[in-house]
Amino acid sequence: MELLNIKNLNLDGKKVFVRCDFNVPTDEHANISDDRRIRSALASINYCLDRDCAVILGSHFGRPKGEVDAKYSLAPVAKRLTQLLKRDVVLASDVIGDDASSKAESLKSGEVLLLENLRFEAGETKNDEELSKKLASFAEFYINDAFGVSHRAHASVEGITHLFDENHKAAGFLLSKEIEYLAKIIDKPVRPFAAIVGGSKVSGKLEALENLLPKVDKIFIGGGMAFTFLKQMGYNIGASLVEDDLLQDAQRIMDEAARLGVKFYLPVDVIAADKFAEDAVSKIVTAQEIPDNWMGLDIGPATVRLYREGLNDVQTVLWNGPMGVYEMEKFARGSSKIAHFVADSYATTVVGGGDTADLVQRVGVDEEMSFISTGGGASLELLEGKTLPGVAPLIVKED
Ligand code: AMP
Repeated sequence: MELLNIKNLNLDGKKVFVRCDFNVPTDEHANISDDRRIRSALASINYCLDRDCAVILGSHFGRPKGEVDAKYSLAPVAKRLTQLLKRDVVLASDVIGDDASSKAESLKSGEVLLLENLRFEAGETKNDEELSKKLASFAEFYINDAFGVSHRAHASVEGITHLFDENHKAAGFLLSKEIEYLAKIIDKPVRPFAAIVGGSKVSGKLEALENLLPKVDKIFIGGGMAFTFLKQMGYNIGASLVEDDLLQDAQRIMDEAARLGVKFYLPVDVIAADKFAEDAVSKIVTAQEIPDNWMGLDIGPATVRLYREGLNDVQTVLWNGPMGVYEMEKFARGSSKIAHFVADSYATTVVGGGDTADLVQRVGVDEEMSFISTGGGASLELLEGKTLPGVAPLIVKED
């Protein structure tokens, strides 16, 4: 899949609208706690500035429900961007109102304007044509660098792309890199290719599992979703998370893996706890011996050893979903050990966004991974084999 390339645009001295994903996490004092998404957008912004563009940036931030809510102002982002770009970033007080319009109009080469939170406009999430038109009227070029929201058909992500021709729109560097890693590596991996799939439920990852099965050589299952598989295999899983309505799907996936010759790994032991809490009593038990009323909240040490052995020879690893309740220190060890092992391997290691990205960062091995996606939902949809609505209009048409 080849995307329209920012480098092919004749941007010199022009006005450019860059859709970014500045939807960063904040702490209780509204300070940015992780600015990875802002830093990830710098390559495209700096490229435009190097070409003497006037740069208009747009992003959503939180879920303000289509109305102005000071809590969701992009002011902290404007401040951080000013530091990172080492130049003034002016924040408009609205999205397409008088302030944004006049500031966009008078914006000069080398200047950066950030529009207020795009979701202050109700039309954003409705893919409203009028909003797309107004945003498009601000600039001569459109760049999508907001991978994390590209699975949404929103006005500044999808609708707006129809208002620029192929010579006036492109994917930014971040979006291109995300697609390069997530889509191309899945299609043409260096083998053996392993997927580590965890997280809470089978239902959230069912389509991804189905899409990955014909492509991978090995699958390692962890997290709460493992228990639906274990139950289907006849184990007593106590009070562990389970989706009884998906037992047949779990069987189908295991059958399909066997048919395709995909090595399918399930936990052989778990950390079982008497309740879902940090101060729970916990113990290591084999998958065969989970006591009634106890719940498995992490993979056990034998599983870690087994998964390490299985992962030893792989050349490409795709990881989506934690191995346990990593938010609680007591149940983070399985995820942490797998994270260290994957980070130390010589394989190409790609981490899906969201929880798994958060996890590898907490463990401190984020720098060791080949690539960490900035988008949880978007990366999962790519793993499910879907074409993202914000990406589809930027795909280079085949002759
Ligand atoms: P997901 O959003 O489906 O990727 O799941 C991520 C969540 O799964 C994290 O918040 C984990 O705490 C949770 N999780 C992982 N393992 C378990 C488990 N064994 N039981 C319950 N929740 C789990």
